[in-house]
Amino acid sequence: MPTNTNNRSPKAETVHSPLDIDRIKADFPILKEKVNNHRLVYLDSAATSQKPETVINAVTDYYRRKNANIHRGIHYLAEKATAAYELTRERVAGFIGGVDPSEVVFTRGTTEGINLIAYTWAEHNINEGDEIVITEMEHHANLVPWVVLAQKKKAALRRIPITICGHLDLSHIDDIITSKTKLVSVTHMSNVLGTINPVEEIARLAHRQGAVVLVDGAQAAPHMTVDVKAMDADFYVFSSHKMLGPTGVGVLYGKKHILESMPPFNMGGEMIREVRFDRVTWNEVPHKFEAGTPDIANVVAFEAALSYLELLGMDRIREHEIALTRYAIERLSELEGLEIQGPQEPELRGGAISFTDPTIHPHDISTFLDTRGIAIRAGHHCAQPLMRILGKVATARASLYIYNDEADVDALIEALIEMRRYFGA
Ligand code: PMP
Repeated sequence: MPTNTNNRSPKAETVHSPLDIDRIKADFPILKEKVNNHRLVYLDSAATSQKPETVINAVTDYYRRKNANIHRGIHYLAEKATAAYELTRERVAGFIGGVDPSEVVFTRGTTEGINLIAYTWAEHNINEGDEIVITEMEHHANLVPWVVLAQKKKAALRRIPITICGHLDLSHIDDIITSKTKLVSVTHMSNVLGTINPVEEIARLAHRQGAVVLVDGAQAAPHMTVDVKAMDADFYVFSSHKMLGPTGVGVLYGKKHILESMPPFNMGGEMIREVRFDRVTWNEVPHKFEAGTPDIANVVAFEAALSYLELLGMDRIREHEIALTRYAIERLSELEGLEIQGPQEPELRGGAISFTDPTIHPHDISTFLDTRGIAIRAGHHCAQPLMRILGKVATARASLYIYNDEADVDALIEALIEMRRYFGA
């Protein structure tokens, strides 16, 4: 795909099947950077993705040509900025399966989306003796709010265990999701194991018991087609920055009748209908949840990211990642003793691949790879309880995206072999 120097999205007719990774790479200016005198091999997209030229240009274009505060002003720029901001909302609504745009709330990210639900819906609907169900593979963002809320409300936090292969173990699910369950909050794709969870089935089981379902889509939305209506999620949350978009922007999808039943989160301008000294009424959704001036420029630029992904096609992105994940797992398996976490079948997982070496600490792996220009992540990946279950203090994690190819995986493997020689392992 050619690099766009203007603010338009890549043209559909320039996209070939399968993905033309060389052309995609050319759209990402940062991939031309040298790191420690090496070509940058970016394998940390599960932490945050890189941004194509179109997204970077959309941010500056906003400030050059559209900047004004939204929803308030009755002047040319205010209307232009508002239209651009609302266009992103419409694009998001389409991206997640064609929902009503008023069901799309902009947040700062996945973390804020989950906290919003914890402080509003959950605060009002979870009481003493109720149960919240999560899984053993949750990111802290979908764990800490529920630990704290459960303690505060004297509710119980139940968890769906994982199997030794890194799948959810649903064999005792009827004992875990029961009539006491008020909320089932699960990750769509694990940021450590890569596992893609059967969220449709979990939603069906949860709804049978009258529970509300929250899906953490931070790792799934960037990599696969998401249809929140088909999965029947009550809430679905994700972050722009992991899917080519700017930082500081997230999405909370919520079914309209649930959003309408919820009290507001932050209070202030824009989220009100009428304010008196003794009484306030709320704006309609989604504005009720968007108090104050949002991150307008970055929401506007998120639209360019969605365009980019949609023009490539989420199904083709998924196909590319299945093939590359298969290749990466095969090549990593050539390294004797290297332990790969999560499902080994690429069709059942995403491209976040955690691994450990029997003798070299993940931080040393990451530090060594960095000297070769290779960026991976090492640590507990904000999933300490999962790490304990895996019996690890940390793992190294290489995560793949649309701009990665077999040459990137080969660079990783060669550097790991070199690392073992260096450490005498
Ligand atoms: N959930 C999962 C599964 C994640 O991987 C992440 C980001 N690592 C988050 C939630 C939190 O996302 P953010 O930091 O964008 O709020």
